Amino acid sequence: MQPASNDTVVESRRGVDDAEKQGKSFDGREQRRGVDSGKNKRTWIENAYTKMNEHFGDLHWWPAETPFEMAVGAILTQNTAWTNASRAVEKLRGAGLLDPFSLYQADWRHIAEAVHPAGFYNIKTDRLKAFVDFLRECYGGDIEAMFAEETDRLRELLLSVRGIGKETADSIMLYGDNRPVFVVDAYTKRILERHGVVDQGWTYDDVQRLFVENLPCKAALFNQYHALLVNTGKLFCRSSPRCDDCPLRDM
Ligand code: SF4
Repeated sequence: MQPASNDTVVESRRGVDDAEKQGKSFDGREQRRGVDSGKNKRTWIENAYTKMNEHFGDLHWWPAETPFEMAVGAILTQNTAWTNASRAVEKLRGAGLLDPFSLYQADWRHIAEAVHPAGFYNIKTDRLKAFVDFLRECYGGDIEAMFAEETDRLRELLLSVRGIGKETADSIMLYGDNRPVFVVDAYTKRILERHGVVDQGWTYDDVQRLFVENLPCKAALFNQYHALLVNTGKLFCRSSPRCDDCPLRDM
């Protein structure tokens, strides 16, 4: 488990210009005008952190006992809620498969049975197999040896593993090895789009760069910020947003 940070983003608490706050309706609800300038984007990012952090407090991500378990969880939670992925992790634990060697040696059906609660169990079994094959072939099954790689190189290597995309690779580096890599997910993009901070044309890398360029480069801060965005997305910024109760309602 990676302890989250109490860090505030910056010492100052500049308010967001009223003109940038709220406008007309969207999705039948509130609509925010665009946050156009770089300065206002930075202010939005700082203030959003403060508001979500005050609302949720430390979230203590990621709830895993080892970096390997964390990486397995990151693969299992693709396209499913963490509660489902967590059940699959526990079944893998119960089956004695939560270490690289056991998982490497395990029969495909044995893994698939444990992975079933996470959904897409055949795809996810293949992806777990691909990851442990990579770990064994490149690092003798030693995840710490994998984490000895420099960040850009490790990202490139992880992205070469079948079924590991940018969000999963970055999650493994941030939550598995405490590296200052900002993780972007669908909730992050949705929240920023709805507040006019980014638009639909922004890519994963564009959104990641926005956070990296506007926050202190601290793993604990990136850890907590991503967890806060996911919680806000899950609880409030759903396809039908619940703005009235959301910590970002005044942004
Ligand atoms: S639910 Fe929250 S984050 Fe989503 S649009 Fe409403 S105020 Fe913003």
